[in-house]
Amino acid sequence: MLPISFEFYPPKTDEQRAQLDRSVQRLKAHAPQFMSVTFGAGGSTLSHTPETVQRLRSEHGVAGVPHLTCVGGSREEIRQLLKLYRALGCDRVVALRGDTPSGMVRSGDLRYASELVELIRAEHGDHFHVEVAAYPETHPQAEDAHVDLRNFKTKVDAGANGAITQYFYNTDAYFRFVDDARALGIEVPIVPGIMPISNFSQLKRFSEACGAEIPRWIGQRMRAYGDDADSIREFAADFVAQLCRRLVAGGAPALHFYTLNLAKPTLNVLERLR
Ligand code: FAD
Repeated sequence: MLPISFEFYPPKTDEQRAQLDRSVQRLKAHAPQFMSVTFGAGGSTLSHTPETVQRLRSEHGVAGVPHLTCVGGSREEIRQLLKLYRALGCDRVVALRGDTPSGMVRSGDLRYASELVELIRAEHGDHFHVEVAAYPETHPQAEDAHVDLRNFKTKVDAGANGAITQYFYNTDAYFRFVDDARALGIEVPIVPGIMPISNFSQLKRFSEACGAEIPRWIGQRMRAYGDDADSIREFAADFVAQLCRRLVAGGAPALHFYTLNLAKPTLNVLERLR
């Protein structure tokens, strides 16, 4: 089995913290390379990411990895966070631009993820293994697919060690993206991001916002199952496991699972892969 990693969002309430703990306990058994924690764009003061990374590292004994976004944050805030993460023992980060929350006016000192990667390299040399985001189906704000690919190259040239993709359900998009990246001279590993399907209407909303295409036939099947939750669960896990098998067979270097803090949908996929 290839290396795998899991992504969580930072819990804010005791109930959410308990849920995260349960999920981490169950997923940990699959020996992930790391477990990453997302970061809300818009500054560090309200963020629960550092405490969650610390919790993963000290209470669960897993390699907790922070995401870091630059939109809305100042250079100084980013510096402080990097210092904190280094003190917590982190040697890997996921560096992103982030999205400005609606209503937020503060734009921050850095505009693009590439500038964040530059800052990390300028201030911490090679200490951090830096992952960036990549978009096989093109970032929704990109001028076009070619420009987006060149912008991806800028992040890699700035010093990123690897990339994790936005989730997708179309393997051709991933394989073509990797081929195009290689043709441009991008050599870093490009790890597919996998979104197990648990709540289909929520997934549809997410996908519209982030530009991921859900094949029409998947939607038709989901609708046909109606309220039959067991069949939906089985079908979704079979489909996502098949996606993973194709990716692995085609040369994907690892798999990164977006867990949404739930263990079961990811476990249902992993059980089919082992
Ligand atoms: P960038 O690489 O900066 O690109 C953003 C857009 O700008 C793209 O359209 C790109 O083509 C364009 N662009 C880049 N450079 C230039 C340039 N020099 N000139 C003109 N245009 C340019 N969001 C969060 O808020 N928190 C998270 O923790 C988080 N984790 C994520 C993890 C993964 C693996 C992925 C795939 C996404 C994650 N996101 C997260 C979402 C991400 O922040 C958004 O997709 C965001 O819109 C873009 O971030 P980026 O780092 O890809 O930005």
